[in-house]
Amino acid sequence: MAKMTTSEDAVNRHKDELSTLSNYNQETYNGSNGEESNGVTLTELLRPTLKNGDEKFTFSKEPTFEEVRRLQAEFTDERDWNQFHQPRNLLLAMVGEVGEVAELFQWRGEVAEGLPDWTDSEREQLGQELSDVLIYLVELAEKCHVDLPQAVLRKMALNRLKYPANKVQGSAKKYTEYKD
Ligand SMILES: [Mg+2]
Repeated sequence: MAKMTTSEDAVNRHKDELSTLSNYNQETYNGSNGEESNGVTLTELLRPTLKNGDEKFTFSKEPTFEEVRRLQAEFTDERDWNQFHQPRNLLLAMVGEVGEVAELFQWRGEVAEGLPDWTDSEREQLGQELSDVLIYLVELAEKCHVDLPQAVLRKMALNRLKYPANKVQGSAKKYTEYKD
């Protein structure tokens, strides 16, 4: 038998994980109100958990992922850069941008939510570097034909199944480590 390639390996690991997760859910998952998981819809799984009256930072409604995809597609088309934007190149570009985000946090120690001690210029820089990461992420998803908005919804639903709120409250353990 031919030696398994790294990507086949990764796919098989992913399948194993999904299978383990599926077995786990059937055996142990209970909803936060104690109901059995049978019949729980995606909408219910994605129900926001913020309590009324909580003041939280929120994003603007626009642009959507699709709009970001289109803006970047126009940008690359206008410059004839599509010839360079294959998936592997985009992945490497994205990782480079993650490094640029990390540079902004490097050697500062932990920082509080909202970055109260950062200057306007540092915040502006962070916004730019995070945007670089997001733009490459969206383009990478596009070039891999991953429908990112739907993939995010599906992954959030899986995360809710993997980490039932009533079982993992306040715990940072991996899903394989906690028990009833
Ligand atoms: Mg950058």
